Amino acid sequence: YQAKEGGGNVAGYDSTRDAASTDQLALLAELREALEVDDQLVLALQPAVDLATGAPTGVEALIRWRHPRRGWLSPVEFIRPVENSEQLGTFTRYVLDKALAVAAGWAREGLDVPISVNLSARSLLDPRLPGEIAEALRRHQVPAHRLVLEITETVVMSELEVIDEVLATLRSMGVQLAVDDFGTGFSSLTFLTRIAVDELKVDRSFVIRMADSPEAAAIVRTTVGLAHELGLRVVAEGVETAEQRLALAELGCTAAQGYHFFKPMPADKIGAVLGTLLDEARPNVFPLRADG
Ligand code: C2E
Ligand code: MG
Ligand code: MG
Ligand code: MG
Repeated sequence: YQAKEGGGNVAGYDSTRDAASTDQLALLAELREALEVDDQLVLALQPAVDLATGAPTGVEALIRWRHPRRGWLSPVEFIRPVENSEQLGTFTRYVLDKALAVAAGWAREGLDVPISVNLSARSLLDPRLPGEIAEALRRHQVPAHRLVLEITETVVMSELEVIDEVLATLRSMGVQLAVDDFGTGFSSLTFLTRIAVDELKVDRSFVIRMADSPEAAAIVRTTVGLAHELGLRVVAEGVETAEQRLALAELGCTAAQGYHFFKPMPADKIGAVLGTLLDEARPNVFPLRADG
C-alpha cells in the first residue's frame, strides 16, 4: 500500500507523516480487505422514536468493524483514517449498499421506516456521489424519501460550492438530509440558509448537560424552536434516562434516540423491533412522570 497512490487524498493530508502512520497504514490495508471479503464491516441499527406515540421515526445505521485480530472496532477508531484515504468512496458505497439492503427488507415486510446513513463531509466532494446513490436506490428498489443522509456541518470552506451542489442534487432526487451533531459545528446557522434540510439532530453533549447547565438547556430549546419554525423534524441524540426524555418532551422535542430506548442492534433483530413499535404506537405511550 502506498499512501500517495490514486491521488485521492482529498484533504491533502499525508498520513505517512502522521505519528500513528504505521498503524493507520496497516489499518487501511486491512480495511481494503474487509471491503472485499464479507461480514467484517457490519451495520448496527438504532431506532429513533416519536416522544408522543413511541412510533419509530427512523433507524440510524452505525458501522462496526468485526476485525479478525483486533476484535470489534467502533467507527471512532477507524473513520478518520478512512476519510483521509482514497478508500473513502468505496467505503461510502459499501455502507450505503448495506443500509439500502436492510431498508429493502423492511419494504418487503411492509415496514415504512426511513433509514439514516452517516456520510463523511469529504465524501460530498465527489460529484459522482448523487449518481451512485440514485443507482443504489434503483438496484434495491428503495424510494429516495426512505433514505436520510446525516451530515455534519463542519465542512471545508473552500469546498462549499461542490458540497452545496452535491447536496442540492441529492435533495432534488428526493433523498432527505439531516444535520448531525447540530450545534457543534462552526457554521450551523449559515448552513441552514444555504442547504435545505429535513431534520436536525441535537448533539448528545447538550442532552447530557441539559439538567445542570442552563446554557445546554437553552441550546436544546432554541434548536427545537428553530426546527419547528423552519418546519424541520428534530431528533435528540444520546438519551439515556427517563428524566432526559421528559425534559426533552417539555422543551417540545418530538423525537429521540438513545440507550434509554434502544442500543444499536444487529440487522437481524431490527425488523421485529420495528414491527412491535409500529403495532404498539399510540398517544401517550410514555408515562408523563419519570417515576410513573
Ligand atoms: P453519530 O452519527 O452522532 O452517532 C451517534 C453515536 O452515539 C453512535 O456511536 C451511537 O452508537 C452512540 N449512541 C447512541 N445512543 C447513545 C446513548 O444513549 N449514549 C451514548 N453514550 N452513546 C449513544 P458510534 O456508533 O460509535 O458512532 C460514532 C460516530 O461515528 C457517529 O456519530 C458517526 O459520526 C460516525 N459513524 C458511524 N457510522 C458511520 C458510517 O457508516 N459512516 C461514517 N462516515 N461515519 C459513521
Ligand atoms: Mg449520525
Ligand atoms: Mg450525531
Ligand atoms: Mg453526536
